[in-house]
Amino acid sequence: MPAPSPVARYRCAACGNLTRFDVTVTRRERAFHHYTVGGDLEIEECETLAEHVEEVSCRWCGHGRAVERLDEGSMS
Ligand SMILES: [Zn+2]
Repeated sequence: MPAPSPVARYRCAACGNLTRFDVTVTRRERAFHHYTVGGDLEIEECETLAEHVEEVSCRWCGHGRAVERLDEGSMS
């Protein structure tokens, strides 16, 4: 099993926001669709093949020009 990727954190340098962002992500996924004979679907084993963060914008400023990504361990 690959290690789960660390959760990205962001900070808006303009207003200091650390908690509210609109994040636009493009994701390719493969999932095991498990149907019952009655046609009910249960999605199992969802696997992310690729993930690309398109845009992160600050909810308070309304844009992402001052948003910085905080890497794991760099929180002060
Ligand atoms: Zn902001």
